[in-house]
Amino acid sequence: MKKEIKKRLPMPHQPAEERVENFLEVALGYNEEQALEEASRCLQCKQQPCVKGCPVGIDIPGFIKMVSEGHFAEAASLVKSANSLPAICGRVCPQEEQCEQVCVMNKLGEPIAIGRLERFVADFEASHGNGSAPSEIRPRHPELHEYAVAVVGSGPAGLTVAGELAKMGYSVTIFEALHKPGGVLRYGIPEFRLPRDILDREIDYVRSLGVQALNNVIIGKTITIDQLLQNGFEAVFVGSGAGAPSMMNIPGENLNGVLSANEFLTRVNLMKANRFPEYATPVRIPNKAAVIGAGNVAMDAARTSLRIGAREVSIVYRRSRTEMPARAEEIENAIEEGVRLHLLTNPTRFIGNEKGWLTAMECIRMELGEPDSSGRRRPVPIKGSEFMMEVDSAIVAIGQAPNPLIRMSTPGLQTESWGGIIVDAATGATSVPGVFSGGDAVTGAATVITAMGAGKTAALGIDAFIRRKHGLPMG
Ligand SMILES: Cc1cc2nc3c(=O)[nH]c(=O)nc-3n(C[C@H](O)[C@H](O)[C@H](O)COP(=O)(O)OP(=O)(O)OC[C@H]3O[C@@H](n4cnc5c(N)ncnc54)[C@H](O)[C@@H]3O)c2cc1C
Ligand code: SF4
Repeated sequence: MKKEIKKRLPMPHQPAEERVENFLEVALGYNEEQALEEASRCLQCKQQPCVKGCPVGIDIPGFIKMVSEGHFAEAASLVKSANSLPAICGRVCPQEEQCEQVCVMNKLGEPIAIGRLERFVADFEASHGNGSAPSEIRPRHPELHEYAVAVVGSGPAGLTVAGELAKMGYSVTIFEALHKPGGVLRYGIPEFRLPRDILDREIDYVRSLGVQALNNVIIGKTITIDQLLQNGFEAVFVGSGAGAPSMMNIPGENLNGVLSANEFLTRVNLMKANRFPEYATPVRIPNKAAVIGAGNVAMDAARTSLRIGAREVSIVYRRSRTEMPARAEEIENAIEEGVRLHLLTNPTRFIGNEKGWLTAMECIRMELGEPDSSGRRRPVPIKGSEFMMEVDSAIVAIGQAPNPLIRMSTPGLQTESWGGIIVDAATGATSVPGVFSGGDAVTGAATVITAMGAGKTAALGIDAFIRRKHGLPMG
């Protein structure tokens, strides 16, 4: 008799009409029964394509087998041996384009919910506290502690490289420009997708490995990379991200009410602007908001606008639904919450009143032409199709580039014309001896897990560099 193919277990969610009124997490996570059931679908494939699809090489069949046997804490330890931030990755990584995309179960229906199981084991360990406690994770080479490494930036790339080097035995210090660590995980991704207690918990885990984390230190201003190297640090990892927003460069962009998604999300997420005057930095509560762009950043800005009280929120995107780069799940969540999609539409100018406040946006309709260099069909304006859209808030979410400060303050550091730091892909080494880099600072805006993968690569590169420099045997 043919074996029944079980369906992938859906994730419980907060209902849309309730969640638009709060910042609580939207996806509620599997309970033990659901995790057991989902894990039982895994075929334990010999070839393990899912592991090859994971940028940090988690033993996916191994941890899923432990879940299916009810050994949840052990499963968490196994995941953590490859990934220091599992509760974060389980929530925000695009598994549908990585491990789950290559899961053999796709051929039989739907892939195993690897991300949801990763999230489950990480949360189980945190609530039951009987996984491998950090104190049990001894540095593999305690003799390396005399060698210090500096890490610039505390986003996923910086946290990963720091955790990996600390586990090897190095003495690691993270320097973060902002007053709180986490990078985009804190100032970009909203709480309803990544609760801050989860972020704090995983940053505390990295700290508990022995990593020192200093905030409010701007490398390139407070102290330069050269000075770090001259003051006892053997190597420096630059994980400074891509925090400089791209703008539209169209008339009216200076009007009040037009701002970058970066600024908007930072104000709400980091400075709690929606709770003014309890917190000092206000943000204007929009009536009609337009968010320009269709990536994860745009979805986050749109859904955050709704939650702070906007009456109407639209995504304005120059291509069609098929080309929207955001995670499918987040687009669906946004639509469910009431975000409208204005596709094949591009703003041509912002229009304001006599007081300098945005009142409308002139847009033009687009059609799709031949594919461009990105492989996506090029949007072409339709002549004479201009129309007005009434808005009092326009949030621009069309991309970010690396901040120029590190490049300008580090002589000899080679970068791409758009600002990305050039590295050796196998080691993360830059053109400056002893300086390594990875994450968005190298690739431009990408994903949490690619930043973490680059952090792991660079940790190995830094280890080899320091060992070579001091004539130590290779680890
Ligand atoms: C709103 C938003 C939503 C996103 N959603 C997702 C998602 O759902 N899934 C996903 O996989 N990816 C998502 N991404 C992308 C992902 O967050 C990034 O690719 C990832 O955070 C990059 O990590 P990083 O460590 O390279 O840089 P970042 O996270 O940007 O961290 C860089 C850190 O370096 C600090 N820094 C910069 N310059 C200096 C300096 N000179 N001195 C000291 N510190 C400095 C910054 O303050 C920052 O804390 C999203 C991005 C945004 C903006
Ligand atoms: S490919 Fe899918 S089914 Fe096979 S081991 Fe990996 S998660 Fe399990």
